[in-house]
Amino acid sequence: MREIVEVAVGLPVFKTFHYRIPEKMRGSLQIGMRVLVPFKGRKVTGFAIDLLDHPPKGVEEKLLEVEDLLDEVPLIDPQMLRFCRWISNYYLYPLGEVVKTGLPPGLQLKSELILSLTQDGMECLAKGGLESIQEKILNNIAKYGKVPLKKIIKIFPGEVLRSQLFSWEKKGLIHIEAEVEDKEVKPKFEKVVQYRGGEPAKPLSKKQIEILKWVEEKREVFYSELSKRFKSPSKAVQSLKAAGLIAVLDREVIRDLSGRPELKSYPKPELTSYQEAILREIMKGIHSKRFSPFLIHGVTGSGKTEIYLRAIEEVLNQGREAIVLVPEISLTPQLLSRFKGRFGENLSLLHSGLGRGERYDQWRRIWKGEVKIALGARSAIFAPFKKVGIIVVDEEHEPSYKQEEKLKYHARDLAVVRAKQDEATLLLGSATPSLESFYNAEKGKFRLLRLPERIGGKPLPQVEVVDMKREGGMLSEKIKAALKKNIEDKKQSLLFLNRRGYANFILCPDCGLTFKCPNCSVTLTYHLRDHSLQCHYCDYRIPAPGDCPQCQGHRLQGVGIGTERLEKDISNLFPEARMGRMDRDTTSRRRSHQQILKRLESGNIDILVGTQMIVKGHDFPNVTFVGVISADTSLHFPDFRSSERTFQLLTQVAGRAGRGEVLGEVVIQTYNPDHYSILKAKDHDFIGFYQEESQFRKALDYPPFSRLINFRLIGNSEKRTKAAAEELGKMGRALLQRRYRKGIEILGPSAAPFAKMKGKFRWQMLVKGKTSQLLHQFAQELALLFEGQTRGRGINLDIDVDPVFIL
Ligand SMILES: [Zn+2]
Ligand SMILES: [Zn+2]
Repeated sequence: MREIVEVAVGLPVFKTFHYRIPEKMRGSLQIGMRVLVPFKGRKVTGFAIDLLDHPPKGVEEKLLEVEDLLDEVPLIDPQMLRFCRWISNYYLYPLGEVVKTGLPPGLQLKSELILSLTQDGMECLAKGGLESIQEKILNNIAKYGKVPLKKIIKIFPGEVLRSQLFSWEKKGLIHIEAEVEDKEVKPKFEKVVQYRGGEPAKPLSKKQIEILKWVEEKREVFYSELSKRFKSPSKAVQSLKAAGLIAVLDREVIRDLSGRPELKSYPKPELTSYQEAILREIMKGIHSKRFSPFLIHGVTGSGKTEIYLRAIEEVLNQGREAIVLVPEISLTPQLLSRFKGRFGENLSLLHSGLGRGERYDQWRRIWKGEVKIALGARSAIFAPFKKVGIIVVDEEHEPSYKQEEKLKYHARDLAVVRAKQDEATLLLGSATPSLESFYNAEKGKFRLLRLPERIGGKPLPQVEVVDMKREGGMLSEKIKAALKKNIEDKKQSLLFLNRRGYANFILCPDCGLTFKCPNCSVTLTYHLRDHSLQCHYCDYRIPAPGDCPQCQGHRLQGVGIGTERLEKDISNLFPEARMGRMDRDTTSRRRSHQQILKRLESGNIDILVGTQMIVKGHDFPNVTFVGVISADTSLHFPDFRSSERTFQLLTQVAGRAGRGEVLGEVVIQTYNPDHYSILKAKDHDFIGFYQEESQFRKALDYPPFSRLINFRLIGNSEKRTKAAAEELGKMGRALLQRRYRKGIEILGPSAAPFAKMKGKFRWQMLVKGKTSQLLHQFAQELALLFEGQTRGRGINLDIDVDPVFIL
């Protein structure tokens, strides 16, 4: 029997700890269970991550003992634990906290073993001739239907052992299943009435006959339905139950999911020859049951979703499971309804809009193996499946796969790791693959599969670039003409502007005053609807002043436009057009997003104005024109990925045009008409963009040609944050000299691009490494050294690993 357990405590502590297992727990404590352990004078929950015969060398002889065992069944299986360990090492994040990330948040989970009688068990009991104690216990289990193992042992103290119960399971008398329960959120049950059959011993009343007949027809009905159909049926139901003609049971129901898309039937389409060729390759990977990573580079509208669906079908046929990641579930209603149409209820949806109970229900359905597909935003990568056969990452280039708080993982990178550990097939799909994924494909780490054509041979839209230096105002003649024509032709148009609000900021032309957020280093945006100035980072808001508070001038004016202003200007220009707007201000209510899309789909919007929300994969055949108001917004963002992001946004938004019979048209307005991001997007030339951007990254030694970790220091005091950053810099350079001669480079420390955010001051230090191994080793060493230095100074060290992951 193993005597020592290694525990990851659920606290922000890097190290794991060892405890002695008390005699009574030996044999029942398994890896993946939670334990209560003494920790610095407190009792804390931890996860058992390894069992050992002896304490490891260097660990004190006198180990503390585990206080309590909190699970009867491991919550996390060894595979998931291995995954979490990898994450903890790679992202330099405490293992206990990583494990917690994979569980439903804020829940008080409890795992148990549940007993019930099998058919054989019932027959044995009916026949009689069992030992008296066995009969007594089986009868007791039968009485409850389902009962926790613990409870049976409590009812019959000393008369039955766990091992006996397990031996009865082996004999097929009882069934033992693992169950996970929440102390606060309970599974939801509803009463159902089930038909049992047989002849009534006594004559039945008219009402009883009617009810019985109805239940017989349906075999099983919800009691709530029954009571809607028959007036006060409870007495009749009681007597039917007493006569053994029906049974009344509690049946678990899954809480309804928010935003459930309407079920639409999508007939299984014929495959194009390109799709067929690609699927053949993917099937080889699936059948090999080995890690098989693919990057599908398919232009917008080329039919990637159908490939995902067929590959998943094949994996399910093998008896394995599927994880599907999408950037943001509410933004992909069409994809969702196609999955629902194909797989029905065998699908669990995981997204940020779920309430606590809903989230717990979904997690539990996966954990118990009741569904085989988990579809969701980034956190679905933690879905507790045990036999993952395929992981799909749709729109793999999307920045929203990166979690920016706490554990800063990138879900696409984790998909690679999990698929590799589980020997699964990996499908990354995009019309504009990320530079790092394409680089991986170039290096032969991913198989590259291409879908160069739109379904039905529809051509890609024609894109025109307008130099705004030669135009007056914010709308070029080109866009105005195109909108006018589309209104006349009863076609729909999209206008993309990645900035919400009315004016970008407010300026006093007399004294030059602008309004800054007191918490963040950004200017406040003017919103017309409530006449306010708002910060889009921390939600600070004040009423907009009438006159300049500094010089009392009357000429305050808005500079730069946002979607609110654009909508207003367009509707002044085309009063006959029906307008719609989609941005964070118009979609804050639940389902408002779907409502806007529905209006667009049913032809009730002529012109839809929106932020990047309109970029996502919707397929509206009547949208024939897309206008990009300013391609420059993302181009000037202080980030080395800004060119890549611009190219992706432009290509994706342009891809919305011309999905139907009519050729699509796109106009891009910019002050940088010669920038390669814009020119390559105009030509739908991903490869050309990739080559040019690669040269730039290579020249500056940026990812994917190097690896990057950002050490960010965040504190309440500007002075102390800066001092800590300088100290970190010194420490890093000293470590560099001592231990790492080559292959590591330190940039900074310096104030972060947004030096103040939500009231906190931010400094950063970038560390570049030639190889991931070297960089992570250095970062780990530095983090541990520095952790001791900052304790109690109100400064947080935030480590952010750049999402360049190369196998
Ligand atoms: Zn002024
Ligand atoms: Zn702010």
